[in-house]
Amino acid sequence: MADRTPDANSTRTEAGSRAVVVIGSGPAGLTAALYAARADLRPLVIAGEPSSTSDQPGGQLMLTTEVENFPGFPEGVMGPDLMERIRAQAERFGAEIITAKVSRVDFGSRPFSVWTSGAAASEPAYRTRSIIVAAGAQALRLGVPGETELLGHGVSTCATCDGFFFRDKSIAVVGGGDSALEEAAFLSRFAESVVIIHRRKELRASKIMQDRAFSNPKISFVFDAVVTAILGDNHVTGLRLRDVASGESRELQVDACFVAIGHAPNTELFRGQLEMDPAGYIRTHEGTRTNVPGVFACGDVQDHEYRQAITAAGSGCMAALDADRYLTAVEGG
Ligand code: NAP
Repeated sequence: MADRTPDANSTRTEAGSRAVVVIGSGPAGLTAALYAARADLRPLVIAGEPSSTSDQPGGQLMLTTEVENFPGFPEGVMGPDLMERIRAQAERFGAEIITAKVSRVDFGSRPFSVWTSGAAASEPAYRTRSIIVAAGAQALRLGVPGETELLGHGVSTCATCDGFFFRDKSIAVVGGGDSALEEAAFLSRFAESVVIIHRRKELRASKIMQDRAFSNPKISFVFDAVVTAILGDNHVTGLRLRDVASGESRELQVDACFVAIGHAPNTELFRGQLEMDPAGYIRTHEGTRTNVPGVFACGDVQDHEYRQAITAAGSGCMAALDADRYLTAVEGG
């Protein structure tokens, strides 16, 4: 396949444009970069900047410990190690990865324009003929003392990822929606007991999920309670709860705390330019196409259903193939 990127020095000038810019560097973005690189598109990955949330280079896996369900790693792999390996694989085939955060995009004229943090506002940092949006999502957090410190040491936002480590333990799940009840049901396979802590009396979850949870002998509920602190030095030992009716505080002993109060896609940047569902996830059709031809979306930015590293990686592959086909159709190949 012909190289459709102008010479490297011209790709950041007004005259030159990139073939593909990938926004985000989780499993979706880096897999897209790997495939785009192997298609000779010399992708530029704008990886994000370090932060304490998943909105950072490597994405949500940077906040997990051991990943045991990514195919090809029978012994398991640490989340950050897995991301390092995928990154190295993409770089091996020529993906260029920069540590920067996208601050603005313009998909209204072609080539598309991308601004990065610190760049002068008038001129975009990059112009590109196609874009792969893989900015990911963030699990919402409680924001209470102990939560960040004990993340990966009993505090988790993903039962599928971490539930297995709490066999025969007592686990708290915070939240009252479908996610919380689904996480609780999953965790009840391993745990000795699961207590769901919800801030109101009524659950938000669907009737069928409620019925299942109520009939599960391992699951109990604490209603009208908010978590004010997660306790423990090296690992979770308990929670401090405040009863919202009486205002009284008490401690509850648990070995783990799964926070399941929802996710938010990192899509604020694209509002008004890409079609989204009411929850802010980018709408895709026919694979990874968005409403703007030449702009593709993959991973958690467009998926609130599966949210797995492997599904994100798979959709990243799809986005690169879709972008390559788009460029071939528009520019010839
Ligand atoms: P959600 O429906 O928005 O529920 C979030 C829950 O967390 C609510 O009960 C909310 O309490 C609680 N919450 C939010 N912020 C909190 C805070 N700071 N402290 C304590 N509690 C807090 O989110 P979700 O459960 O992740 O579901 C998202 C969407 O995915 C929904 O449409 C859901 O139906 C869907 N989903 C479906 C399935 C399934 O069908 N199998 C599984 C998972 C998710 P309040 O109720 O008081 O607001």
